Amino acid sequence: MPVAATATVVSRSDRTLVCFECGRRAAGERDRARCDCGQPLWYRPQPAPVALEDRPADMWAYGSVLPTGPPAGVGGTAGGTPLVRAPALDAAAGCRVHLKLEAANPTGSFKDRGSAVGVAAAAAADRPVLTVSHGNMARSVAATAAAAGVDCAVLVPADIPAGRLAPIARFDPTLLRVDGDYGRLYHDALELGTPLVLNSDVPLRVAGQRTLAFEVAAERPDADGVVLPVSSGGNASAVWKGYRELRAAGRIEEVPPLYLVQSAACDPIAEAYRTGAAGVDRAGDPGETVAYSIANPDPPSGTRALRAARRTGGAVVSVADDAVVRARERLATRAGVTAEAAAATTVAGLRRLVGAGTVAADDDVVAVVTGTGAYEAASEPPAPPTVARDEVGRAVRDRLG
Ligand SMILES: *Cc1c(COP(=O)(O)O)cnc(C)c1O
Ligand SMILES: [Zn+2]
Repeated sequence: MPVAATATVVSRSDRTLVCFECGRRAAGERDRARCDCGQPLWYRPQPAPVALEDRPADMWAYGSVLPTGPPAGVGGTAGGTPLVRAPALDAAAGCRVHLKLEAANPTGSFKDRGSAVGVAAAAAADRPVLTVSHGNMARSVAATAAAAGVDCAVLVPADIPAGRLAPIARFDPTLLRVDGDYGRLYHDALELGTPLVLNSDVPLRVAGQRTLAFEVAAERPDADGVVLPVSSGGNASAVWKGYRELRAAGRIEEVPPLYLVQSAACDPIAEAYRTGAAGVDRAGDPGETVAYSIANPDPPSGTRALRAARRTGGAVVSVADDAVVRARERLATRAGVTAEAAAATTVAGLRRLVGAGTVAADDDVVAVVTGTGAYEAASEPPAPPTVARDEVGRAVRDRLG
């Protein structure tokens, strides 16, 4: 019997698009990302009877519940990131800290899990990809597409600093600077038709990123909580979906509380959580924040992320920049981890959650270090002393004893 599959895409998982909120099925239009009710769509949740024994080599260990196989190139190596206990961070966080090191992905963030699935789908359909980003998602989509031989366009804001543009341009995507309301582009892009749009919360991206939950469940089945920085809400949605699918398959008993952290400079999801609102409203323009990767004032999956926190018994908190900078420094000096400020919000957020009595001091919590700080300049340039060559011996002895 002939098998209707190409070399790269096997129809392994349910690709019916449903609304997380009203449950409506989206009619068979390709690339639908939003329900008529305005909320985001995702692939219909299905039981995920995946093996949870060991840390997998990469996310493709969960291929039986992914909508595509791996793309050619680096996307085929996404996932399978380390999870380490970091006891020297317990004092800073207030509880027992474990770190899921998503910076170990090919371009340094969890976005590679979603980009890999999206680019594989585009390759199979012989379509280009497009994304609206000037940070980790842009680098991730551009690199994954370059390696898979898929054409890629990236829309960046007109005023993007050169230092942010160069790490994206390296992968040679078609770059367009866009003048005008960059925030609105998320919605404009979904209407473009020709390219496959890989924005922060589209169903293909969520499908790939939910493997993060499978890995954390495999390595820390007893976790008392999982902490994630949240911006669009796409990744929190993915982790929530992944855990629910494990529970539906009987692989875990309960979904752990999902604790979501925002920057106080831009925290519409935390605001909705605080006020008990049913959904997330657009915030004003974000103030300056070191956690620029998570400063989305109009999160497209904000309400879904809010639901993820509430339904799992978690919470949404926001943290001030000085706490984030301190947490980033602690991650480096006490755990040897180069975290982006956005990712360091997890440790700062934990401290707040412990202070509020939401997380207990003896809780084992997994903080997801979502992205590397390697692309970030230090807030204050270091200034070590200079010594003459023939003074080096004494200078070292003086300092190290
Ligand atoms: C994209 C990103 C986030 C936020 O993820 P969302 O899916 O937009 O909520 C957090 N941390 C880092 C490092 C990111 O790149
Ligand atoms: Zn709906």
